[in-house]
Amino acid sequence: MTEPQTYEFQAEVHQVLGLVINSLYSNSEIFIRELVSNASDALDKLRFQAITEPELLRDDESLKIQLIPDMDAGTLTIIDTGIGMTREELVTNLGTVAHSGSKAFIERLKEAAEAARNDEVQLIGQFGVGFYSAFLVADQVEVISRAAGADEAWRWTSSAERTFTVEPAERDARGTEIILHLKEEQRELLHGWKLRSLIKRYSDYVNHPIEMEVTETVGEGDDQETTTKFEVINQSAALWRRSPSDITEEQYQEFYQHLTHDWEPSLTHTHFKIEGTQQFTGLLFIPKRPPFDLFDRDQRGGVQLYVKRVFIMDECEELLPKWLRFVRGIIDSDDLSLNVSRELLQDSRITRTIRKQVIKKVLSMLEDLADEQPDDYLAFWERYGVVLKEGLHFDPKYKDQLARLLRFRSTRTTAATDEDSPEWTSLSAYVESKPMKQKAIYYIQGPSLKMVESSPHLETLRSRGYEVLYLTDTIDQWVLDGLKEFEDTPLVSALDADLKLDEDDEEKASAREEQATAFKGLTERINAILDDRVKEVRLSERLTDSPACLVLPEGGLPSYIERLLRANQQDIPATKRILEINPTHPLIENLKSLSEAGEATEDVSSWIELLYDQALLTEGSPIDDPARFASRMTRLMQTAVASKVDAQP
Ligand code: ADP
Repeated sequence: MTEPQTYEFQAEVHQVLGLVINSLYSNSEIFIRELVSNASDALDKLRFQAITEPELLRDDESLKIQLIPDMDAGTLTIIDTGIGMTREELVTNLGTVAHSGSKAFIERLKEAAEAARNDEVQLIGQFGVGFYSAFLVADQVEVISRAAGADEAWRWTSSAERTFTVEPAERDARGTEIILHLKEEQRELLHGWKLRSLIKRYSDYVNHPIEMEVTETVGEGDDQETTTKFEVINQSAALWRRSPSDITEEQYQEFYQHLTHDWEPSLTHTHFKIEGTQQFTGLLFIPKRPPFDLFDRDQRGGVQLYVKRVFIMDECEELLPKWLRFVRGIIDSDDLSLNVSRELLQDSRITRTIRKQVIKKVLSMLEDLADEQPDDYLAFWERYGVVLKEGLHFDPKYKDQLARLLRFRSTRTTAATDEDSPEWTSLSAYVESKPMKQKAIYYIQGPSLKMVESSPHLETLRSRGYEVLYLTDTIDQWVLDGLKEFEDTPLVSALDADLKLDEDDEEKASAREEQATAFKGLTERINAILDDRVKEVRLSERLTDSPACLVLPEGGLPSYIERLLRANQQDIPATKRILEINPTHPLIENLKSLSEAGEATEDVSSWIELLYDQALLTEGSPIDDPARFASRMTRLMQTAVASKVDAQP
């Protein structure tokens, strides 16, 4: 087959192309970063494959990227001697969006493009729109490629319309050549100074030499002679191997942006060398903004793995736990073997050792950030806190360090500031500011700040001036399972049956017992009515203003968590909770008298049902029988309104 064959772009590609061209035109320069980075990846892939197939690469010297500006033709050509692409690869790689969940991807990309158009945050950089950025500067793009080990080469051509063509081509050696037929207004790119400055800005840290073809004219008149040669125009040095004292902050940030394609500098970074049983160097960053798929635990993340400066793999998750999936950077090991595979990494002692050190380094980087730049730390917490918290559940051995990094809203912080941006507190701050007599750290979990703030469970704690932490992320329920205490102070939920408010002295215990006996008739009566729904009925010490609330027996899950799990198809038994009634509340006192007087059984039962329904409502639970609830309510209101009318003169 020698005729060019025409293909249609996948619909998503067409969309991506449109978005890229329409929203990034003011940043057209990034094409260089994207294409050089692809070329560099292709060189890395080749070097990696050559570890097992040495015949693919005879000498390292030939691994390079070349830029050839051609003023006369109006083209800029980017050549690499990398892995190359077969015919099929050209069609798939440059004709489809290789992204799982493409649809969601496009949606997010649209949002980011919209933001970029409005000159808001530049999020689009994280999307790897890659190759298609070529069309920012070129109206026609040719890709000639020969895969390593293959005999034939292929030409891919497109003008960013709906189609591209593929046909046989000539190429002497393996690698890829991208010919950009520049738009009229982009011809400036063909000047050496311009290319140099772009490479410096976007690709200085590419780990392979980038050469530019320069033309030199010597002599005058008829003796004039023009020669061309290639000049290396990037540093191509492994920045992380240098000593931190020789690297400026600006260089770190340039490297970070080169590595991640982020438009903004990183939030913080750590650069370290470990000299234990495993020697390795790490340079790790936390991006200011989380990736669009931060909450997708299946999304690959992780760091780049190098072995003795040779790139081995991207997104090496084995070296980082899922709960640090937002960390970017590189790990360069001195001890792993060059032909290490993912399978090998998954189950190796070396990986475990490296991983442990990496976790420690990241956690101390975060502690430093919290100490030295608390505002930046809070920005980190607001964006990544939910993910970091997973660590308490999955890796409890780091719980002491993690606990120091936790931040919470609380009764104190939300009272102190305006509602829209309440402050944060930490466990250390909590412990430092609590009254001496307070024996525990109190928290309450719930589906939203609003729900927990107005929860009756906090009444007594509030009246004593005890701070209560608000836990409103779903994961908090599991996080706190992993954290029973903080620096010897136990953590207690305001929803738990055993609130541990006071050390029991004898006097108090006997007073409580007396009260329990006095209310025995009522509690038993309530128990008999709600027997199928509650585990127990008892007097409450946590209420001051409300008549009743529901609390959790030991090990019980809050009702909103149960509902959430059930919504996720998990078959979990309902926890029967404990109904606590407030013996000092006039309603409860009156119910007690009525109940003792053997008053109209039906009315008392109906009020008890209402009391229970009300307790369900205040904790945000649905009531079992809304229609009956409404009719009981109506009846009550009717009586109340009637007595008001009767009382009128
Ligand atoms: P990404 O690099 O994010 O995967 P791109 O759109 O930049 O997305 O590239 C798509 C794919 O095309 C790459 O993943 C790679 O497989 C292939 N590709 C692009 N440029 C080259 C190149 N110079 N050499 C070999 N393969 C390439």
